[in-house]
Amino acid sequence: MKRTIPVTASERNYVIEKEKFVPVSEYYGEDTFSNKVMKEKLPKDTYKKLMEAINEDKVLDISTANIVAHAMKEWAIAKGATHFAHWFQPMTGITAEKHDAFVDPVGVGEVVEKFSGKQLVQGEPDASSFPSGGIRSTFEARGYTAWDMSSPAFIRRNGISTTLCIPTAFISYTGEALDKKTPLLRSNKAVSKSAVNMLKLLGNKNVKKVFSTLGPEQEYFLIDMDYFFKRQDLVLAGRTVVGAPPAKGQELEDQYFGSIKERMSSYMHDMEEELFKLGIPAKTRHNEVAPSQFELAPVFEEANLAVDHNQLVMDTMQSVARKHNLAALLHEKPFARINGSGKHVNWSLSDNNGNNLLTPGNTPHDNIQFLVFLIAIVRAVYKHADILRASVATYANDHRLGANEAPPAIISIFLGDQLTNILSNIEKGIVTKATNAEIIDLGVSSIPIVSKDNTDRNRTSPFAFTGNKFEFRAVGSSQSISFPTAVINTIVAESLDYLAEKIKAKGGNINKAVFEILKKEIKDIKPILYNGDNYIKEWEIEAGKRGLPNDKTTPVALKALITDKALNLFEKYEVLSKVELKSRYLIYVEKYIKDLEIEVKCLNNICLDQVIPAATAYQKTLSQAINAIKEALGSSAVISAQKDILKTSLELVNKIYSTNKEILAKVESASAIHDEAKKAEMLCSKVKTKMNELREYVDELEGIVDDELWPMPKFWEMLFIS
Ligand code: ADP
Ligand code: MG
Repeated sequence: MKRTIPVTASERNYVIEKEKFVPVSEYYGEDTFSNKVMKEKLPKDTYKKLMEAINEDKVLDISTANIVAHAMKEWAIAKGATHFAHWFQPMTGITAEKHDAFVDPVGVGEVVEKFSGKQLVQGEPDASSFPSGGIRSTFEARGYTAWDMSSPAFIRRNGISTTLCIPTAFISYTGEALDKKTPLLRSNKAVSKSAVNMLKLLGNKNVKKVFSTLGPEQEYFLIDMDYFFKRQDLVLAGRTVVGAPPAKGQELEDQYFGSIKERMSSYMHDMEEELFKLGIPAKTRHNEVAPSQFELAPVFEEANLAVDHNQLVMDTMQSVARKHNLAALLHEKPFARINGSGKHVNWSLSDNNGNNLLTPGNTPHDNIQFLVFLIAIVRAVYKHADILRASVATYANDHRLGANEAPPAIISIFLGDQLTNILSNIEKGIVTKATNAEIIDLGVSSIPIVSKDNTDRNRTSPFAFTGNKFEFRAVGSSQSISFPTAVINTIVAESLDYLAEKIKAKGGNINKAVFEILKKEIKDIKPILYNGDNYIKEWEIEAGKRGLPNDKTTPVALKALITDKALNLFEKYEVLSKVELKSRYLIYVEKYIKDLEIEVKCLNNICLDQVIPAATAYQKTLSQAINAIKEALGSSAVISAQKDILKTSLELVNKIYSTNKEILAKVESASAIHDEAKKAEMLCSKVKTKMNELREYVDELEGIVDDELWPMPKFWEMLFIS
């Protein structure tokens, strides 16, 4: 096929058009209705009421909402906005928005621009076209969007169209969550309540609120847009379903942290400029392990804001890429046999005074607090490893997890040697008396600030302690981080409550009580601790002996969401009712089936209308050549090479054709299964393996068919020509 010769951004005269470069600090956040803007634009008492509503979860009265809406509208119009939209995160995993013009007719041929408090606070999009997992029947398809005051409104530009976007939660007529934001907000509340209670118990009385904080490291690929559009599988499924690995992959390790090519650098500059305008603190960028793979990491923020911002990062990455004639691929495994993309979700807890609760302190008291929170988290992950695994279970992530590049499906915790030793000393029960208080010694009174070198070495762990936060590394790159975060918050809330109960029941000296409880707990939960290499086969065997769950595929892993344990937990913490959680389970199963079926159809199309015709054309050329050579040189001519290639190509085409037929027949028979969970399991066990087999044949064929005839861009072009 004809190769594209990509040009750099400067050759395309794109970025260079800028007249001058303005320091980021001068425009950072200019497209958000930020705290600073609110302070400036709102009357003093309105601002005060709004802040109270935000910080103390109070309801905003309608007259205040009217004033805020008016100021917001004036601000947005001055920025060129013609429309407003309630921006929400339905269960599709992407964001949704319905635009309404500000204009309101006031007679024939006359309009005014209007935006009321009611329009700001609540919207009523038709919910019937969003996945609900059967929560509501179509006759009551009304859904509500409700303003989430904790995440600032922002301006979205799309070409010359400019819209004021209001972050909202999306709920059904009867109050059930239909989106990804609602459970996250509820889980924030739950973990805050449990953490504040625990802090009080430990004598820390001046904390009012605790926040979960998130720093999601986003991985992605960039390829030339011309290649992208020539690959039906990339356009429709986000991933190549066929394609042979390039002669050079990542074995030279020359890509990771290497210098970034001009074209990609210009793209990043442009993309980050958009993020900065939205007040998104994009901090680091670098080349990742695979060719044409990159990472963006923001400075961490309060969880709800970080989730909204990560959605905007993913959107912006894709939209700015188009301007540079690039495609940003967010899929977990766009190229088989090449490193996939994940999203390392860094998670911690912070109090309202800005203290990170996972920073080991300098005083014994601080250290006791640190240890209690640490062990609560370890216990949470131990008890609910299955739910955590389910929170990252998607069709796409199955291609990546456990593929010797990402953590396996077994959830374990890396703490590093230092902390592991401290815990083991506590378990052994060594307490010493200090001068004026009972102090737990042997390191506990002086836990050093754990250095990065000690904690960050193990990149294979799915859940690693990295100095002052945990890093959940099993999350997929294209996934919303909302649910994984809601799960962590909820399970940690439960463990904090559990420990608090135990400590209270023990009574007496608090430090002594804490020490005794932790001592017992460590013994119970230590099977989840593993500092070794998570990629080796021995770990799988060892983990099995320890009784840790190892659910390798999504249909199996998702079942953790509908156990009594999970249903009761989420209901108790008012994060998701049983009905809501069951409906989510169904949505996830259905999504799995749809994703798989889309790939099957792509594979079928590619085989039948691209690969086989190309191979047949080449077979014709070969046959004609064989005959012509015979004619020219007589029967003594050696034409074994051409004959061999012809035969192999024929065999492969026949295998491709019959395996494809088999796949279609299996999908057809699966359509008769009415239980969606069973259907997903059947497709997973029977169809996926066949798809891999089919791919092998196609990839082998790619290696022998005339390069000029191959109907789609090859891996080496997509990954190395840019
Ligand atoms: P790396 O993991 O690549 O070595 P870092 O560990 O420095 O890089 O940071 C990774 C991410 O963790 C960043 O997004 C950073 O903002 C985030 N992070 C740092 N501290 C916290 C915290 N207390 N809570 C949540 N995320 C954090
Ligand atoms: Mg990291």
